[in-house]
Amino acid sequence: HCGMVAIVGRPNVGKSTLLNRLVEQKVSITSRKPQTTRHRIMGIHTEGKYQAVYVDTPGLHSEEKRAINRLMNRAASSSIGDVELIIFVVEGTRWTDDDEMVLTKVMGSGVPVILAINKEDNVKEKEELLPHLQWLATKGNFLDMIPISAKHGKRVEQIKQHVHNTL
Ligand code: GDP
Ligand code: MG
Repeated sequence: HCGMVAIVGRPNVGKSTLLNRLVEQKVSITSRKPQTTRHRIMGIHTEGKYQAVYVDTPGLHSEEKRAINRLMNRAASSSIGDVELIIFVVEGTRWTDDDEMVLTKVMGSGVPVILAINKEDNVKEKEELLPHLQWLATKGNFLDMIPISAKHGKRVEQIKQHVHNTL
């Protein structure tokens, strides 16, 4: 079975880093500067009977905003190449207007959403994480919420497990 998994989120949250982890090779360019990903980069991961096609969505400015709109519209329709799972990446204990905008899009798509709270390693006050997670839980009906570190590979396996279960 081959299905599409979309990795969405505002610029610089670590989408490309996560994609590289998920496909276990460097297919996507990561950078400290936002907007390095100019095109959606597909990664294909095959494991046993399932194959996941990952789409790394670019940032949220100018024409890139239209790219995410197209992707979400396609996910909402039932055409071939549907997105079957969305990995919504956010950053640590930070929440911005751009996160809010992505949230609105993904929740309106009707596709199951996993919230990946990335850069867990950057959260200095670890005790802030739990209340933040509780607050995030009120933002939407997520299939799961997982604090991860894409850079260090922490809990990326848990994300893979969801992909495995979905596809
Ligand atoms: P994108 O714009 O969402 O694709 O973000 P990138 O994957 O290009 O990452 C943006 C920056 O965040 C890069 O400097 C990454 O090395 C860094 N980054 C990504 N994941 C993590 C993480 O888990 N921990 C930390 N500390 N930095 C990360
Ligand atoms: Mg990127």
